Amino acid sequence: MYGLGGMWDRGLARALSLGPGTLRLHRSLGHSAYDVVIVGAGIVGLASGRQLVLRHPSLKFAILEKEKVIASHQSGHNSGVIHSGIYYTPGSLKARLCVRGAALLYNYCDRKAIPFRQCGKLIVAVENQEVPRLQALYKRGLLNNVPGLRVIGPKEIKEKEPYCRGVMALDSPYTGIVNYKQVSQAYTDDFRDSGGSLVTDFEVSNIEMVKEAPAGSGRGMDYPVVIRSTKGEDVYCKYVVTCAGLFSDRLSQVSGCSPEPRIVPFRGDYLVLKPEKCYLVNGNIYPVPNPRFPFLGVHFTPRMDGSVWLGPNAVLAFKREGYRLCDFNAKDFTEAVTYSGLRKLVLKNFTFGMAEMYRACFLSAQVKELQKFVPELSVHDILRGPSGVRAQALDKDGNLVDDFVFDGGSGEIANRILHVRNAPSPAATSSLAIAEVISAEVEERFGF
Ligand SMILES: Cc1cc2nc3c(=O)[nH]c(=O)nc-3n(C[C@H](O)[C@H](O)[C@H](O)COP(=O)(O)OP(=O)(O)OC[C@H]3O[C@@H](n4cnc5c(N)ncnc54)[C@H](O)[C@@H]3O)c2cc1C
Repeated sequence: MYGLGGMWDRGLARALSLGPGTLRLHRSLGHSAYDVVIVGAGIVGLASGRQLVLRHPSLKFAILEKEKVIASHQSGHNSGVIHSGIYYTPGSLKARLCVRGAALLYNYCDRKAIPFRQCGKLIVAVENQEVPRLQALYKRGLLNNVPGLRVIGPKEIKEKEPYCRGVMALDSPYTGIVNYKQVSQAYTDDFRDSGGSLVTDFEVSNIEMVKEAPAGSGRGMDYPVVIRSTKGEDVYCKYVVTCAGLFSDRLSQVSGCSPEPRIVPFRGDYLVLKPEKCYLVNGNIYPVPNPRFPFLGVHFTPRMDGSVWLGPNAVLAFKREGYRLCDFNAKDFTEAVTYSGLRKLVLKNFTFGMAEMYRACFLSAQVKELQKFVPELSVHDILRGPSGVRAQALDKDGNLVDDFVFDGGSGEIANRILHVRNAPSPAATSSLAIAEVISAEVEERFGF
């Protein structure tokens, strides 16, 4: 059950089914108190909560989530790819965590009987001028210890993907697919089975030091941090870890951290192949990434349910959790467009950004891009599909922040709080490895 450490008002508690494994209870938080509270039930918060409770079973943990179900945002709106770690700078934390994370994830899915498919991936050069970049990627992948990488020519491309054309490809048989909502649910089950409590429908609005012992709690100042929800509910704790994805910068500011790096939301829209055309694609087909652009480029991705998604593109979103083209939030929009970092990024990538916007509006333009890989594809073979929104951390000079950012804020509370301000993509693949890093950081900072 989703619990509050035994602090439920059981008289009022009424279970209401809201989806797989999810219960909402009418509750009275009373004086709920925990050793450690994690904010955000995305895959990073859940994996970290799981890792912490497994390592410290005698402590009391809770995860607070503003939505009614877990993995409602990035963790439930992504391509579902288990990346093998080809792209990232050798030796970087991002590269190491991806390679280790993928290995841990395959093993975890095996143990938990979570369906996955190691269907492989081709990164395809369709023009000769892309070949040097593809070869550089191959070298990177080898330095990153990605298993099974090979460079293949047009004949082998056709054997693996009969409808795909290309002059050369990087074959990554270790790449796979999984449903990250299922993975997140399994992390949740582990967390709860080990005594952790998950509280949904709790949007954190403030985190501060307790000024005086809560009346009637009988525990004095043992839990010196109070976390308040937008509905005025309080949860007390000794330490806090925030993993708030698209809102990580705003939540950090609540406890006195600097506004930078800011999160700028980029929406990624997918197209979906009509079922009768899914035969066109076997595994993942990716372009050679444009080094000037942070995202991997529009790709063909088979899903665990047998469908095939094409995308995502990357356009500035006018709302942090806005999944439709017309979604707009005045605060999110104003904050993004008045940020010097975004203005600089836009100036640096103006042509590319405009082309992405154009392709987002006109299906035929998007299809033209995809036809470079699968010429047989036509605009009649596709439908508009779902979207996701990426939390892209950006500094004030317009540089994309590619590494972890931990922050504690200032003053007394800084010794009790760890904000995970940026857990760079592919954080779903790397989640179990990221959780090890966060857990180690928590242990060092808080002296567990
Ligand atoms: C379009 C797209 C495609 C991607 N494809 C892949 C892929 O194929 N493979 C891969 O490995 N990675 C992929 N990624 C990246 C991956 O999905 C993310 O890196 C990962 O899900 C991030 O997890 P998270 O827990 O940090 O964030 P989230 O999943 O966004 O979770 C943050 C949680 O915090 C909660 N929260 C926020 N504010 C508050 C508050 N005030 N109070 C309480 N709760 C709060 C939110 O509701 C949310 O549930 C993709 C991402 C996108 C957007």
